[in-house]
Amino acid sequence: MEKQKTLYEELKKYFGFDTFKGNQKAIIESVLSGKDTFVLMPTGGGKSLCYQLPALLSKGTAIIISPLIALMKNQVDAMRNFSEEDGVAHFLNSSLNKQEIEKVKQDIVSGKTKLLYVAPESLTKMENIDFLQNVPISFYAVDEAHCISEWGHDFRPEYRRIKPIINEIGPRPVVALTATATPKVQHDIQKTLGMLDAAVFKSSFNRSNLYYEVRKKTDKVDKEIIKYILSQGIKSGIVYCLSRKKVDDFAQILQANDIRALPYHAGMDAATRSANQDAFLMEQADVIVATIAFGMGIDKPDVRYVIHYDIPKSLEGYYQETGRSGRDGGEGKCIAFYSSKDLQKLERFMQGKPVSEQEIGKQLLLETAAYAETSVCRRKMLLHYFGEDYNEPNCGNCDNCLNPKIKVEAKELLVTVLEAISVLKEKHKADYLINFLLGKETSEIETFEHNELEEFGSGSDEEESTWETVIRQALLDNYLKKDIENYGILKITKKGKEFLKKPVSFKITKEEDEDDADIEELESEEGVIASGGGNSGAADPALFSMMKDLRKKISKKLNVPPY
Ligand code: ADP
Ligand code: MG
Ligand code: ZN
Repeated sequence: MEKQKTLYEELKKYFGFDTFKGNQKAIIESVLSGKDTFVLMPTGGGKSLCYQLPALLSKGTAIIISPLIALMKNQVDAMRNFSEEDGVAHFLNSSLNKQEIEKVKQDIVSGKTKLLYVAPESLTKMENIDFLQNVPISFYAVDEAHCISEWGHDFRPEYRRIKPIINEIGPRPVVALTATATPKVQHDIQKTLGMLDAAVFKSSFNRSNLYYEVRKKTDKVDKEIIKYILSQGIKSGIVYCLSRKKVDDFAQILQANDIRALPYHAGMDAATRSANQDAFLMEQADVIVATIAFGMGIDKPDVRYVIHYDIPKSLEGYYQETGRSGRDGGEGKCIAFYSSKDLQKLERFMQGKPVSEQEIGKQLLLETAAYAETSVCRRKMLLHYFGEDYNEPNCGNCDNCLNPKIKVEAKELLVTVLEAISVLKEKHKADYLINFLLGKETSEIETFEHNELEEFGSGSDEEESTWETVIRQALLDNYLKKDIENYGILKITKKGKEFLKKPVSFKITKEEDEDDADIEELESEEGVIASGGGNSGAADPALFSMMKDLRKKISKKLNVPPY
C-alpha cells in the first residue's frame, strides 16, 4: 500500500489535487507498470494527467504526440505552471526557431525534460528521429488517438506513421487517449499502434443532464427555431448548420428577429471569427450559428441548448457537438432537425469522393439516420454507438422516453432475422438482408443464387421498416453486432445464438407507419390555417399532433388516404 500513498502524494505535490478523477489512478498505475494502455474518456475527464503524472515519475522523457500546435502550447504552459522546475515540459514543432530547438534539445539531454510534445509531422523529421534515438524515452502517449482512424471524425494521415516511427526511434510502452471512439475506431487505433492486447480503460459517456430530441424538419424550421430560442429567454446556445452559407443566412435571420446571434465558420477571416467567439464567451451574444468548425477547445460551461439545423454527418460528431451544452452539469437541450431529404443531399455530396471514403461516409450516415428515426431511447442509442450498454428502461430525458411508443412482441421476427443471417453465413449488411427477407430479386442476390434458398422471402409479410426496426433493436440488445473488420456486416452474437436455441421475449417499439410525405404536406397546409393566416407564428404543436392523429385514425377506419 506504500505505492498508493505515494501516488496521492505525488498528485498533490505536482498538481495540487487531493483525489483522482474517475479511472485516473488505475490508468496511471497501468502506464507506470509499463503496459500499453488505451484510454477512452469523455472530454474534460482528465486524460492529460494520465500521462503527465507518470511522465514526471518515470526515468527519461515521455514523448507526447498531439495534433494541434495550439493545444500543445496550452499543455506545456499548464505543465510549467504546475512545476517549479524550468524545462520540465517542451514542445517541438514548426513554430520554433533554431535557437529554441537547441535549448529544447539541451534540456532533454540534461534529463530535465520529462514531457516532450510533438506533432506527428515533426516526429517524422529525420533530424528529430536521429536525435530521439539517443535519448532515454519513458513511454509514448498518443493524444487524440482517434485521428488515426478513417472512421473517426478527424482523420489525419500523418497519425498512421506514428507506429513505424516509434519502432525506428525505439519501442517503448504506448498510451493512446481519446474522447471519441466507437468500437470500430478503438479497434483501428489499437491495431494501428500495435497494441491490441493493451489494458483498456473506458469511462461512461452518459451525460444524464443532456436532453435529446429529434424533430421532423419541415419548411417551417426557421420559424420553429426562432420560436424556440425566444422561449428560452436570455441563455447561451449554439445552432449548428452544415454549410457556411446557411450559417451566414441564418445568423442574419436570427438577428432580424431580435436575437443576439453571430456567425462562425472557417470561411470567415480570423479576426472576425475570434471576435465572434469572444462575444459569445463574454455573453455579448447569446447564440452562435456555426459550422462544426466551432467548438474545438471552447469551454463555456453554461451553454443551455445545441440545435442542429441539419442532421450531422456522424453520430460521433453529434455527440461532440451536443456535448458542448451543460458542461456545468445544468440543463442542456439538444435538438436535431431531421428530414430524409437532407440525408439524400448529404449522400449526394459524397459522390465525388474516393470510393472507400464514400463507403465509410454512408455507413456513418446510416447510423445517424437510425438515431433520428428510432423510437427507442436516444441515450441508449448514442451510448450503444460508443460501445456502452445503457440498460435503464426509461432515461426520463429524451423525447422518446418522455413520450414512449407502444411496444409489441417480436420474438418470431427476430427468429426470422437470425435464421436468415445464419443461412447467409453472416456475410452481409442490413440492406442486403432486408431485401433477402422481403424476397426482392436484386442482381446481387441473384448472383449469389440466394433466391434459391428456402428462407428467401421469409419476411415478405412485413414492411421494410419493420425489419429495419427489428435489426436496430437486435443490435441495441446485443443479439447482433457489426463486424469490426468489415464494418456493417451483421454477425450473430453469443446471446443471439442462445436466443435461436431458446427464444425469449423480444420487444420492439412500433414505428410510425403512415406515409411521411403526406403528413408533412398536411402539416404545412394546416400551419397556415391554424396560425390565423400565417402572421402570428407557428401553430400550437400539441393541437397539431392531436389533429394529425385524429385524421390518421379516421382515414384508417374509412380506409381512405388522410385528407
Ligand atoms: P481531457 O483531455 O480529458 O479533455 P483534461 O486533461 O484537459 O481533460 O482535464 C480537464 C480538467 O480537469 C483540467 O482543468 C484538469 O486540470 C482537471 N483535472 C484533471 N485531473 C484532475 C483531478 N484529479 N482533480 C481535479 N481536477 C482535475
Ligand atoms: Mg485532452
Ligand atoms: Zn431516453
